[in-house]
Parts: sequence; C-alpha cells; structure tokens
Amino acid sequence: METHPQDLTLPLPSPSSVDRLYPTLTPDQVARIAAHGRRRPLETSEVLIQPGEPTARLFVVISGRIDVIRPSAGAETVVATFGPGTFTGEVNMLSGRRSLAQLRGGASGEVIEIDRDQLLALLQTDGDLSAIFMRAFILRRVELITRGVSDVVVLGSTHCQGTLRVREFLTRNGHPHTMLDLDHDAGVQELLDRFHVAAADIPVVITCGEVVLRNPTNQQIADTLGFNEAIDRTQVRDLIIVGGGPAGLAAAVYGASEGLDVLVVESTAPGGQAGASSRIENYLGFPTGIAGIELAARATNQAQKFGAQLMVGNGARRLACERRPYAVEIGDGQRLPARAVIIATGAEYRRLPIDGLPRFEGAGVYYAATFMEAQLCAGDDVVVVGAGNSAGQAAVFLAQAARRVHMVIRSAGLADTMSRYLIRRIEDHPAIVRHVHAEIVSLEGNGHLERVAWRDSQDGRVETHGIRHVFSMTGAVPSTRWLNACLALDAKGFIKTGPDLSPEDLATARWPLARAPHLLETSLPGVFAIGDVRAGSLKRVASAVGEGSIAIAAVHQVLHE
Ligand SMILES: Cc1cc2nc3c(=O)[nH]c(=O)nc-3n(C[C@H](O)[C@H](O)[C@H](O)COP(=O)(O)OP(=O)(O)OC[C@H]3O[C@@H](n4cnc5c(N)ncnc54)[C@H](O)[C@@H]3O)c2cc1C
Repeated sequence: METHPQDLTLPLPSPSSVDRLYPTLTPDQVARIAAHGRRRPLETSEVLIQPGEPTARLFVVISGRIDVIRPSAGAETVVATFGPGTFTGEVNMLSGRRSLAQLRGGASGEVIEIDRDQLLALLQTDGDLSAIFMRAFILRRVELITRGVSDVVVLGSTHCQGTLRVREFLTRNGHPHTMLDLDHDAGVQELLDRFHVAAADIPVVITCGEVVLRNPTNQQIADTLGFNEAIDRTQVRDLIIVGGGPAGLAAAVYGASEGLDVLVVESTAPGGQAGASSRIENYLGFPTGIAGIELAARATNQAQKFGAQLMVGNGARRLACERRPYAVEIGDGQRLPARAVIIATGAEYRRLPIDGLPRFEGAGVYYAATFMEAQLCAGDDVVVVGAGNSAGQAAVFLAQAARRVHMVIRSAGLADTMSRYLIRRIEDHPAIVRHVHAEIVSLEGNGHLERVAWRDSQDGRVETHGIRHVFSMTGAVPSTRWLNACLALDAKGFIKTGPDLSPEDLATARWPLARAPHLLETSLPGVFAIGDVRAGSLKRVASAVGEGSIAIAAVHQVLHE
C-alpha cells in the first residue's frame, strides 16, 4: 500500500514549519477576523463539520479546542488539534469542495465562525492574513496527502493504463488517495471480494468506504467526489475560460482579482501541458526551476483565492455562438452562459507512438529546442524527429552545439513545406545526417534516455544508437475541434486573432462592429483566444501567461461596450 506525499512537491512539514502549518494569530488579527464572522459557543463533542460535507465554514478558536478526526471504519484518529488563537481549514476552503475529515469540539469554549464567502473577501483585502491563511491551507493539504488522510482508495495495477489515468486525475487535482496494487499488496483480493468486483474491472475507485466505481471516467470521479458541486451552473457569468493550462489560469487570476465573475472549465485537471512537465526552468522568477504540478497548484489556489471557480473533469463540447450571451456546452449537455469567453484549450504535441515514452519526457525527450536544451546536449549526438519547418529549425540550431544531429524522417525526404533556406542549410551542414524512411521504434534508459533505436521502413533493418537526446518535432494539434465553425481558424486549425484576421475572415464571420477585433479577440466579438491554441503563439509557459493577462484588459472593454 502506498500514499503519495511526493505528488504535490511542496516541502513536507519539519518541526520548524509547524508554526506555518498551525500558526497562532495575534489578538489584533483575531479581532480583524471577528469583524467578518460571528462569535459563538463551542461544546465538547459538538460536530462542526462532517466528512463529505461541502467546506463552507472556518473556525478560529478563542477558547477551548477543536479536533480534526480522520474518518475510519475502526478506531478514530485525531489528525490535528486547534487551540486558542489557531484556525481550522485547508485548501477546500478556497474551492468549496467537500471536507476530508470531521471537525469536532475537543473542549468547550468559544469560536469565531466565518463562512467561505466572507473569508475569501477578507483574504482579498487583508494581505497579512492572506499570507498566513494561504500558506497554512496549502501546507495542510500536503500534510493530509502525506498522512494518507483520504476518502479514496484506488485498486489497480502499475501496469494498467487506466490506473495511471485515474491516479493522475486525482493527483493533478490535489486529491489525496491510497493506492492498492493488485500485483503487490496483500489483502487486495479480500477487498475485491467484499465489493463484488473482479480483477478485470480495474481500476476500481472506492470512496467513503462504500461507493464503488469500476474503471470510471474522469467526470464520474469528479461527480462522485463532488469536485464541482459548489458551482452554480445557471448564472450568467462575466467570463468563462475554457482550458485551465497556464494561459487559462493566468486569465482566471487576473480576471477574478480585477472583480470579474470567472469560471474556468477544464476537461481534466488544472495545469495543462505545463502541469505534466517535470521541471520548467525558463519561467521568470524560478531560478532553480519549478515542477509543472507545483506551478499549477499554486496558480489554482491563487485564482480561487480571488474568487474564480474551477470546474474539472468536464470538457467543453460546443460553443453556442449564435447570440449573446454566449454559452459553453459541457460534457453532460448543460449550457453555461457568459458575456465573454476566453478559449485557452492549448494544443497537443504529437507524441511518438512508443511504449514508456512518458518516462523520458523531460529526461531525454523534448518538444522544444531552446538554448536550455542545446546546453544539455553540447558535444553529444542528438535525434530530431520530423521533416517540417520546426524540425528543420531545431536541427540547424542544435547542430551548433551537438556533435551530430540525426534527422529521423518517416517519408522520403524533407517536407515540401520546409523553407528553402533551411533545406540548403541542412544539406550543407557537415554535422546533420538525414535518415529517410526511418521511424523510432524504441527508447531505453534508466531514469534518463540512454539508447534510441530506429527502423528503416524499406528494408526493415533496426539500428540502435547510444543517444541521450531526442527532439520530437512532429507538430502540435490544436484543441479546437469542439468549436464547430464558430471562429476563423488557420489552415492547421489554430484560432486566428486580432491583426491576423484578414478582411475576408471578418467578412465571412459577419463581424458586426465598427471597430476592429482587439489584439487577442477572435472573429466573434467578446470571444478571445490565448496561449498555444492561438495561431502564431510562441508555445511557451511565459507567453501563455502573458496572453492571459493581456486578454483580461480587452474583456473589460468588451463588457463595457
Ligand atoms: C513535456 C512538455 C514540457 C514543456 N516544457 C516547457 C518548458 O520547460 N518551458 C516552457 O516555456 N514551455 C514548456 N512546454 C510548453 C508549455 O507547456 C505550453 O506552451 C503551455 O502549457 C501552453 O499553455 P496553454 O494554457 O496555452 O495550453 P495547455 O497547457 O495545453 O493547456 C490547455 C488546457 O486546456 C484543456 N482543454 C483542452 N480542450 C478542452 C476542452 N474542450 N474543454 C475544457 N478544457 C480543455 C486541457 O486539458 C489543458 O489543461 C512544455 C510542453 C510539454 C508537452
């Protein structure tokens, strides 16, 4: 049996961090909170919050004690205790998701009770309290994950793709879970028998010790755990953001912090492609790099602190763009109305169809060739997969640092679409070798990529080379299929915005306004596109975040039109 403290990469609490986990507020700070909440008596054994109940209230202890109790079939475990001057709550206070534990009076006294909306208002205006509460909430969630305080058990196998998906969904949504591995953990069979499930049903998710989901979809898990139940689906919002990658989360932070009523609709979990990156080293302000999952968790908490709401496990299926307010239709057929929409659904990099690829992503397999990657492979042999412009640019660029660049090309040669100047440079460069009719068939290594094999599709011969770097430059597919012809797209399906929209595009879209589209506005007034999904975007975390903030300025203008 394993729990996963490493999944959220914030530091584990050490004795010195206990003060940050369970800070004691000063009398002045308590008084500032009291002005927003109400004082009330606390009784011994009084249940304040039940596990599974939406987290809508926080308590500051004036006198007496509150215990946090872990739900369990057998004996109860006290997870934490709160005495005078301390406060309850963790990140669920921001999202409004269900409580993972029971809160109970440990000794009678007096508390301040403050509801979630009042607390969020306080955190938005009181910087001193905001820092204390946000730090404690985040560290407490890490602590819950570390100690396996969870209402979810995943029965599965490390060799099963479905198990991986379910665990990734829970992990990237910051939900603690316990994994029982069919192949290694004793007692799993007993559990399977108890819940009448067969080994063929895995992954099986058991919640609250009773609800059993067999190979559930992400949406089923989100629904069962109530991830989205605090979200009102009928209200017309100022802004719906589709996609919770760096671009969408940045727009949520800027939009909500500037007073807009914001909902983010995300098909899986916040973070997008960046959330899957083991370490982002070129994002401003993080000189030692930051794990994608940590950046995503921080951005999500920040957006929720400012009041943005996040719906996960539920993708947009259609944009109802016939009239305003527009509506985003989600997986279960519901329509979410909004006065303005930002599309931040990103693009999916085409991945090599090879077993074990994720193990090497960021550890020998790259999707960008910048100075950073070039430094990593100085003096080494590298492989560039692809025959288009991005592959050509990468090959020429990497050839300055690498010993040799092997271009692995599936077709008979460089693509017709590749610029002439690039073709000439590749042909003339002594360090670039082209392998045509070739396909990568395996990647091997222990921790980092060590060997690459490719097959000649004409004679079937397989060559294996001791190469530690593969650049996969076979293009990205924009996530725009769901837009059903509402917006002008470029030839590859990316969304055109602002000055990229030609007079013909605007005429075809029947652009109704006297003004031209704003910088990131699409061919539909009030609908914006940002980040990787936008035609001509840079495909970087920093540029996606920047576009998120720029779009909000234009959203304000559109809402006042
Ligand atoms: C392995 C890897 C490593 C990388 N490393 C770096 C790096 O070190 N530095 C760097 O600057 N860049 C890096 N990048 C590129 C960077 O991650 C992207 O440029 C950035 O994530 C783009 O952000 P985005 O928000 O536009 O899109 P994405 O990150 O792609 O996010 C889009 C989001 O939209 C969601 N979505 C899609 N369709 C729908 C729908 N219909 N409804 C609802 N939600 C939907 C997706 O689930 C996703 O969460 C890396 C990319 C990869 C793949």
